[in-house]
Amino acid sequence: MAEFAADSILVLLDVTPTGELASSAAGLLGAAAQVGTPVALVVAGADAHASLAAAAGALGAPTVLTADLGGADQALTVPITDALSAAHDLVRPDAVLVSNSIEGRDAAGRFAARRSLAIAVDAVGVARDADGVLAQHSVYGGAFTATSAPTFGALVVTVRQGAVDARAEAVASPVVDALAVSPSGAPAAQITSFTAEVATSSRPELRGAAKVVSGGRGLGSKEKFELVEQLADALGAAVGASRAAVDAGYVPYSAQVGQTGVSVAPQLYVALGISGAIQHKAGMQTAKTIVAINKDGDAPIFEIADYGIVGDVFQVVPQLIAALDAKKG
Ligand code: FAD
Repeated sequence: MAEFAADSILVLLDVTPTGELASSAAGLLGAAAQVGTPVALVVAGADAHASLAAAAGALGAPTVLTADLGGADQALTVPITDALSAAHDLVRPDAVLVSNSIEGRDAAGRFAARRSLAIAVDAVGVARDADGVLAQHSVYGGAFTATSAPTFGALVVTVRQGAVDARAEAVASPVVDALAVSPSGAPAAQITSFTAEVATSSRPELRGAAKVVSGGRGLGSKEKFELVEQLADALGAAVGASRAAVDAGYVPYSAQVGQTGVSVAPQLYVALGISGAIQHKAGMQTAKTIVAINKDGDAPIFEIADYGIVGDVFQVVPQLIAALDAKKG
């Protein structure tokens, strides 16, 4: 059985239905390495353990705990919470990092409640002071960064996908240990059927995308919203939208960025015909580079944009696409 460092950080890595690490793994392990020694936990079928452990090592986990599914393919959340609990007892970590994905925050919430630990959700970074691990949050529409800390015990942190750039150094041969998990028998929603949704688009998924192009009410109609999709395709970006564009039926709700939609933290965020209401900014202000195109030079989006073009999207964007296409040559 592996020895665990005094500054261990337990990291639950999401596993995709096809048995690979989710794209959030790199940022989670990078964040953990900033504040301690990462110990990765993967919950998957036994046949995927070796490849998942190697992948976790390549992303910087010196130690990987592997847990069997334990019914995670038949019941929601509880088997993963059981594994997280067992890993916590074994490792005694200073903090537990989990992706702020749907599955991750569900497991983190249950685990924190079960073990009476403090939880910090949707963190955009972690830090450490003399008393332990802290979580950083982007609040008030991204205008301030707040820091939270637990009064006692390991802090459970759900980390916003794409928010942490830091990467841990690859470990060629991580120590891999099988984790023994006793099922808690806690009530769980049963999975009665599972249908993999066939991707109808080659575009990246909005949550966790490195580049996002979003459109607002300024696009004017569902048909004209295609311009947003064309620029997204030219950049290899995901498509997002403001709530006004969603409410007007230009795009489905799944594309909504903001307080009541998806929070994104991409390298590049392009806002087309979006005014920049505080509720929209809340979901995208932590993007590394923000480009805004709006015909109103006083639109609030320009207050947070790194690059701004005052102009009509229907004139500017086609030129941008042509320039990008020419560059690809
Ligand atoms: P508008 O504010 O109408 O802005 C359209 C912009 O397009 C204008 O700035 C205009 O100058 C520009 N424009 C028009 N034509 C062109 C053109 N041809 N070329 C260039 N620019 C052009 N909003 C969200 O986005 N996400 C949320 O999650 C969210 N949650 C909310 C939660 C609550 C509780 C509330 C009250 C509101 C929420 N909203 C949210 C709504 C938010 O307040 C704004 O109403 C919304 O973001 C506005 O969307 P918009 O910028 O597309 O539209």
